[in-house]
Amino acid sequence: MTALEDRLKARIAATGPLTLAEYMTDCLLDPRHGYYATRDPLGAGGDFTTAPEISQMFGELIGLCLAQSWLDQGAPAPFALAEPGPGRGTMMADIWRATRGVPGMHAAAQVHLIEASPTLRAMQRERLQGLPVCWHDSTDALPDIPLWLVANEFFDALPIRQFQRDGAGWRERVVGVRDGALALGLSDPAPRPELAHRLSDTLPGDIVETCPAAATVMAAIENQIANHGGAALIIDYGDWRSLGDTFQALRKQAFDDPLAHPGNADLTAHVDFEALTRAAPSLTHSALTPQGVLLDRLGIDARAARLAQNLRGPALEAHRAAYQRLTDTAEMGTLFKALALVAPGAPLPPGFDPV
Ligand code: SAH
Repeated sequence: MTALEDRLKARIAATGPLTLAEYMTDCLLDPRHGYYATRDPLGAGGDFTTAPEISQMFGELIGLCLAQSWLDQGAPAPFALAEPGPGRGTMMADIWRATRGVPGMHAAAQVHLIEASPTLRAMQRERLQGLPVCWHDSTDALPDIPLWLVANEFFDALPIRQFQRDGAGWRERVVGVRDGALALGLSDPAPRPELAHRLSDTLPGDIVETCPAAATVMAAIENQIANHGGAALIIDYGDWRSLGDTFQALRKQAFDDPLAHPGNADLTAHVDFEALTRAAPSLTHSALTPQGVLLDRLGIDARAARLAQNLRGPALEAHRAAYQRLTDTAEMGTLFKALALVAPGAPLPPGFDPV
């Protein structure tokens, strides 16, 4: 048994079962034993990979999308180019390189990264040498200037709570201890005013998920964009409205029991994009766009063909496989979705349709 598992059990014995959000927070972010706090999960032999790590094309196209949006809103200077959960810094490096030729953009940009993991902050510092970067613990610390923000696979890492419908009330799914092992249980049913809008589209026994931390982040983004202009691009796996249990663990690129290896497996849940928009009600949001469709509209075919010209043999094969993985409907193309948010009246970034 690991030190974190011992501590979780002691805490449950002392104060009762934990919400999934409490369990996830400790597993992911505990300073000594947390999954993100202690490792680079994206490295070779890591537990999972992400679109920016699969191909440079992803960050490049997102960078050009942000640049066009910045130009469309009058190229304000200075502005914050922000990314919560930047991982190894790969996407920001690709964004920066791809936007080198945009007149005035680099001179106007301040890069703001929101990162909880000291290990990953160190990698980002190394990767982004020469860029004007500041790190923050929270989106509340973003400066009061126009904001262009992009989040890829950030919201899926934020702690969720789960509720199971019981009549007109809800039982919360909680983590307790049974026969010496961590086990899921259900709290007593209670009314949940924040889930009132889910009584019409759920049946008794259905599970819905909430993500209080995501709402806090969205409120900060809303405040900046509504007051100063800009845009937020959010890319993640999930759907418009959460229904069912999407809490999952990944360890060594395979699914794992989320309670089996606390602190040693990545824990995520699908993102409920409707909930993100509800937490930023004064912003205008785009239609939810499948990642494959967005990349196609942003010109991935032309970029892929251009890069292929300089590649031969196994490198060309790997490039083609990466293109496939990012765009194919059977791979990341449909499971991953993108949402853009802007101030009312501002143009949506390229590649996004109005609702
Ligand atoms: N965006 C990157 C990394 C995704 S992994 C990519 O696409 O490759 C999730 C990232 O979010 C990691 O950098 C992790 O350390 C960070 N993170 C997770 N929870 C966080 C929190 N509560 N606050 C800030 N960063 C967090």
